[in-house]
Amino acid sequence: MTAALLAPFTGLIDLVLPPRCPGCGVIVDGDDRFCANCFNELAFLGPPQCACCGVPLPHEADAAARCGACLAEPPAFARARAPLAYGGPARQVVLALKHGRRLPLARMMAMAMLRVAGALPDDALIVPVPSHRWRLWSRGFNQAAEIARQFSRISGRPLAVDALDRIKPTASTKGLTRQARRKNVVGAFRVARPELVRGRCVILIDDVMTTGATVSACAARLKRAGARQVEVLTYTHALREGQGNFAIR
Ligand SMILES: [Zn+2]
Ligand SMILES: [Zn+2]
Repeated sequence: MTAALLAPFTGLIDLVLPPRCPGCGVIVDGDDRFCANCFNELAFLGPPQCACCGVPLPHEADAAARCGACLAEPPAFARARAPLAYGGPARQVVLALKHGRRLPLARMMAMAMLRVAGALPDDALIVPVPSHRWRLWSRGFNQAAEIARQFSRISGRPLAVDALDRIKPTASTKGLTRQARRKNVVGAFRVARPELVRGRCVILIDDVMTTGATVSACAARLKRAGARQVEVLTYTHALREGQGNFAIR
């Protein structure tokens, strides 16, 4: 049967096929679960870490300690957290989100993010980073919005999927330096729904945080529009060389 003929039944096929590991594709005994091999390869992030951006810090660091980058240039967000370092099976999940089984993957990612979110304030508003940098090959599908939708559902906090808008197409940030990335996103975002964010704690959602330039640009816009505070939650944090040495394996 051709793919076109099968298309209307993909939902059904999904139901009858056994669940597969989101990292490597082997059959596992439950939905949204990594196989033992992939689970062992995940690099979990947690304390001791930068109080601001969440990168792992050496063990002697105390809870309020900040990394060199955040000290040198404080980001516009108050706090960024991710459950996992980018790479290995976590990277596979990020890449797989644009293919089928989006809902179970996005839900699994949101659940992992909720575990590191801490106590969400009552006025938390869930906002995805708009028009993903990979939108060209993802044909308009916004991974961040899909994760944000699931995060809103499981956290019970409202979603404002269109609060932010990307007004300037940004070039691929791959391989760019920290400074070039920051320049790349200047003026790239605008707050489309200021009435929604005013006075609230905005929880910005994305799949990957790299240097933080994108989320910091979004946070600056949101704060200028009257957001009380901006926090960032991503599924993975792409650590620079050396930073991953302290990740919990
Ligand atoms: Zn696996
Ligand atoms: Zn930091």
